[in-house]
Amino acid sequence: MRTVFVAGLGVAGSSLLYLIRSVNLENTQVVACDPRFYPWSHIVCGELVPEVSYLRSKVPNLVYEYLARSHKVLMENTRVVRSFNSMTIIIGDLRLKINFKFYMIDKSLLIRKLIEKSEDFCELMLGYSAYRYEVHKNHVRVYLRSREGHSKVIDADVVAASDSFPSVFYSPEILYILSEHGYKYLICVSCVAEMNQYFEEPLIIIDPEICPGGYGWIFPKSASTANVGIGVLIDYVINIEKVFEKFLKKFNLKKLSRPLSKTLPVDGIILSRVSNIVYLGDAGGFVVPTNGAGINPAIASSLIALEAQLNTELFNYKVRKIFGEYFSKLVKIRRIIDKYLTDIELFKNLVREINRNRILIPFFKKVLSDLMLGHVVPIHRVVISCIDSLVTSLKFPRL
Ligand SMILES: Cc1cc2nc3c(=O)[nH]c(=O)nc-3n(C[C@H](O)[C@H](O)[C@H](O)COP(=O)(O)OP(=O)(O)OC[C@H]3O[C@@H](n4cnc5c(N)ncnc54)[C@H](O)[C@@H]3O)c2cc1C
Repeated sequence: MRTVFVAGLGVAGSSLLYLIRSVNLENTQVVACDPRFYPWSHIVCGELVPEVSYLRSKVPNLVYEYLARSHKVLMENTRVVRSFNSMTIIIGDLRLKINFKFYMIDKSLLIRKLIEKSEDFCELMLGYSAYRYEVHKNHVRVYLRSREGHSKVIDADVVAASDSFPSVFYSPEILYILSEHGYKYLICVSCVAEMNQYFEEPLIIIDPEICPGGYGWIFPKSASTANVGIGVLIDYVINIEKVFEKFLKKFNLKKLSRPLSKTLPVDGIILSRVSNIVYLGDAGGFVVPTNGAGINPAIASSLIALEAQLNTELFNYKVRKIFGEYFSKLVKIRRIIDKYLTDIELFKNLVREINRNRILIPFFKKVLSDLMLGHVVPIHRVVISCIDSLVTSLKFPRL
């Protein structure tokens, strides 16, 4: 009997359980754990997803295929709270509108439904977290601890690490690679807030004076409430609590829930080097590097894992082929513009130059909306580099 151990029941782990149920893996025992008794009870998320059919012309075909299948799983297991036909991005004093269909979904309902549909065939260890693992010749030994201090050990043939970023199951080699490459991630804080000012559609705020080192968002849930938050690149050291309070004040938002924080990997795919472990969802870097969207990619990672029959080599091969190159291209573009999130002078030069040089506005709008939608256009690297060198040169006196 083969034991598959699923560590973490967020979107990735719960969708894996749900999908395993439909493929009837023979001679397989599935055990899953999550530190929370109700893994759907604490949601740190904007809960916004794009209408997948609109992405058909924007992402590579293979990526589209997996996102479309993930979207189906998503829509069959949640409800649409609201839908929007556009999004506004505020950059300094510029307001750019992106016409695109987005849905606000109920992520808590999604996770609950996926888990409830899987309860009959797997052993759920709710209230237990994995804190250590050992790799043996034919299995991985996982050490678990409960909230009450009980310990358990599971010998698993395969571990699906879906315990978010950074995973307990990162090997020393992975940790070394991540730190050597300066792998970027965001520290996010978010909550539900009451809006004292009516926002009709999702707003993204990019302005280092408001949200230094990152960006903020206001995603309206109803006429008076919204999911709000900020995400800050980790190499930019700030007091995030203070920044969040200032952000709420600036947009006249009143907290309705306790702000929760979470890290979000935005620097591409992370592949396991241990043959019996696969990284899913945030643990595997399945987050669109230019917009932080991870719900659909997390489900896609579970789909790929099952197609690979949870075989690490096959999973890694497929992930490289489907998401690897696509995400790498987005990371390269994003890295050029990261500095505008942290350097106030550069950012001001950018906004000033775009306002002054009106011809830049359509280019800038196109580039920005494509990045927000995860659309890789090869010419963008040239356009972004040109705008970047123009703006950077403004720091120096002109000849
Ligand atoms: C503030 C914020 C806003 C976001 N907004 C959006 C959005 O609007 N749209 C979108 O598409 N994406 C958004 N994302 C990204 C998206 O939420 C994630 O990419 C996605 O939820 C990843 O799913 P996951 O299952 O990998 O991780 P999670 O959903 O975080 O689940 C991880 C699970 O692992 C469990 N766990 C943790 N440690 C352990 C352990 N040691 N042992 C066992 N289990 C453990 C946790 O309790 C949790 O249940 C946002 C992220 C953040 C942080």
